[in-house]
Amino acid sequence: MKIPFLRFDAMHAPLKAAFQEALAEVLDSHAFVLGPQVASFENAWAGYCGARHAIGVGNGLDALHLALRALRIGPGDEVIVPANTYIATVLAVSYTGATPVLAEPSARTANLDPESFAAAITSRTRAVIPVHLYGQPCEMGAILDTARRLGIHVIEDNAQAQGATYLGRRTGSFGTVNATSFYPGKNIGALGDGGALTTDDDELARQLRIWRNYGSEVKYYNRVQGYNSRLDELQAAFLAIKLRHLDAWNAERRRLAGRYQSALAGTGDLILPAVAEGAEPVWHLYVIRTGRRDDLQRYLADRGIGTLIHYPVPPHLQEAYRDQGWREGQFPLTEKMAATSLSLPMYPGLRDDEQDAVVEAIQSFFR
Ligand SMILES: *Cc1c(COP(=O)(O)O)cnc(C)c1O
Repeated sequence: MKIPFLRFDAMHAPLKAAFQEALAEVLDSHAFVLGPQVASFENAWAGYCGARHAIGVGNGLDALHLALRALRIGPGDEVIVPANTYIATVLAVSYTGATPVLAEPSARTANLDPESFAAAITSRTRAVIPVHLYGQPCEMGAILDTARRLGIHVIEDNAQAQGATYLGRRTGSFGTVNATSFYPGKNIGALGDGGALTTDDDELARQLRIWRNYGSEVKYYNRVQGYNSRLDELQAAFLAIKLRHLDAWNAERRRLAGRYQSALAGTGDLILPAVAEGAEPVWHLYVIRTGRRDDLQRYLADRGIGTLIHYPVPPHLQEAYRDQGWREGQFPLTEKMAATSLSLPMYPGLRDDEQDAVVEAIQSFFR
């Protein structure tokens, strides 16, 4: 049996005719950039997240970057970012000239620890970017309390948690402005690149539309030195189709996560994912931790089971950040997670017998 880490067919095959119809519609409309498909998907996405506005952009990294630019964050400012994240979160801060300040995760949830966030605040801190990693909502209550008290902007990185809730409210609706990615492998992904911002602030939404479109509100008149980062009409049309299925897909991920949680409990030295109080995750990834990670990954690969590591090298140890002054040992919890984490197959379309085979292989490894 071959069990890949990710497969799209169960999600995409039933939608193929709808995708083809959407392609024909865009083709015939002759509107390819910032037309009716983007406007319509932005409305649907804002409604889904429970935000007043959504702004479609080129990808998730641009969404984070544009959020920071529109908030006028730049050189001399500090932005607090979890040390345990995908590098995009850190890069977005670097692009603006502001300083990324890393904070350790909670050992339990792997997400930004509200206490290490509070400890990283200085007089220069302008924003914090909580990342709902693996689809697990951060402890937003404590993070928002601290941020509000000190006038710090919250920018959620909701790339991995589309549809998740914290205290009954969707992630992507808590911050001043929030970013998500429609990279194909996300819980709702485009058939290519895409991203979006969400905000309740009318003026900020207007600014974000200007920043994503060359700094222009009126064609050929430029208010700021903006960017070209727009969600494509075609991708917006595909995303509108997929959005109708997101809740069902997330429900299937929850079911699969429940099966892993009960089947793997007490196996070897495994640490299974923990859910923060008040959080309803969407299991973008199902990440286990073990001191024998590399051996387990090889053992599963030998049996045709695909796994990935999210992420093998944390941002502060990447070659790209050699000159930032971060050193090995500075974020020990993050480094430990990088050394012990393993992501198992988790997607709508993973069959129960396949998941049973993954569980059985892991149990036999530890026997
Ligand atoms: C995928 C991802 C991004 C970046 O999204 P792109 O669309 O690939 O630019 C940012 N942050 C996190 C946590 C992600 O998982």
